[in-house]
Amino acid sequence: SLCQRMLLMYMLLDKEYVGFATLPNQVHRKSVKKGFDFTLMVAGESGLGKSTLVNSLFLTDLYKDRKLLNAEERITQTVEITKHTVDIEEKGVKLKLTIVDTPGFGDAVNNTECWKSVADYIDQQFEQYFRDESGLNRKNIQDNRVHCCLYFISPFGHGLRPLDVEFMKALHEKVNIVPVLAKADTLTPAEVKEKKIKIREEIEQFGIKIYQFPDCDSDEDEDFKQQDQELKDSIPFAVIGSNIVVEAKGKRVRGRLYPWGIVEVENPAHCDFVKLRNMLVRSHMQDLKDVTRETHYENYRAHCIQSMTRMVVKERNRNKLTRESGTDFPIPMVPGVTDTETEKLIREKDEEVRHSPSREPHEQTQHHEQHSEPEDPHLEPPPSADPHSKGS
Ligand code: GDP
Repeated sequence: SLCQRMLLMYMLLDKEYVGFATLPNQVHRKSVKKGFDFTLMVAGESGLGKSTLVNSLFLTDLYKDRKLLNAEERITQTVEITKHTVDIEEKGVKLKLTIVDTPGFGDAVNNTECWKSVADYIDQQFEQYFRDESGLNRKNIQDNRVHCCLYFISPFGHGLRPLDVEFMKALHEKVNIVPVLAKADTLTPAEVKEKKIKIREEIEQFGIKIYQFPDCDSDEDEDFKQQDQELKDSIPFAVIGSNIVVEAKGKRVRGRLYPWGIVEVENPAHCDFVKLRNMLVRSHMQDLKDVTRETHYENYRAHCIQSMTRMVVKERNRNKLTRESGTDFPIPMVPGVTDTETEKLIREKDEEVRHSPSREPHEQTQHHEQHSEPEDPHLEPPPSADPHSKGS
């Protein structure tokens, strides 16, 4: 009978064990098979050690068994936005890491709006993703969205420079900004401490919305909570980069050799390099990706859809005026979405954005002042529209 069969099934299933406890393993296996990707951007004044740090962070690790022959060549000054992609594998887990190096600014006579090309680059990646996502083949989309931007702050100034403020504010609604204090070996520990406090205050004062580490759950253990707090207090991470290996106390370490001693890149007493790398790689990579997708990209997408609807409404009104109602007007290219549907989507998105309690700092307005020309005449560039202005 049915009862007997049920009983047998339960016995087979070992009472309370249905099987969904293996879900994490299933998810894990699938992700591992697919591999992970992460895109990191570096920005800031030229000469602050961006290229050196990136090499120290990832690339040179790849060549640890090899001689670093072209390391010097690789750090020639950046003149345009360049992309390096490396595939790293660790214990069978594959990571496709993309580094986006931006032109170091500050050299030019006129530095106004030097952030524009960088902002455009980020928008272009969003735009490409949006197109791909709206296209027919959504299966194998290449995701080039920028997940994190390390912003280099000079150790020689008194806190932030006007250009730093301008730059970060131009980008903070598009990307997760993680500020770093460059060349920390040029400062004493007391100076590092003082500068960090000053910079944190200024970030607050100027309303710069840097990447917020997620709050840890109240049920986490004390150790974890303390580590989390330490991480938050380290902002901006004081970093030191080096492409050479030196000998310190009989050990070969990556460091910088001075007449008075050696600074070790990976020594936590010397700088926050390891803390930064752990944050990027071990603890917060997924969160950086989540915030990129859920906040920055969503903002972009909402703008796009909104601008499309505006276009449609404008076109419709014009048609009414010229008594051509009934004829076709150009519907922007979002396949399968009619304008009323789009309007509904926007309303929902607006609501969602307005009511979302967490991640508040990221969910502010985005101002797209400039954007590159879209190749597709149907898809308008995002407007300098404010999604919050509707009904608020
Ligand atoms: P970028 O223009 O920001 O990419 O800077 P580079 O990485 O090309 O570095 C510029 C110069 O600063 C080079 O001579 C580096 O050797 C040096 N440099 C890089 N990192 C550090 C650092 O952490 N401390 C010190 N003192 N010098 C550094």
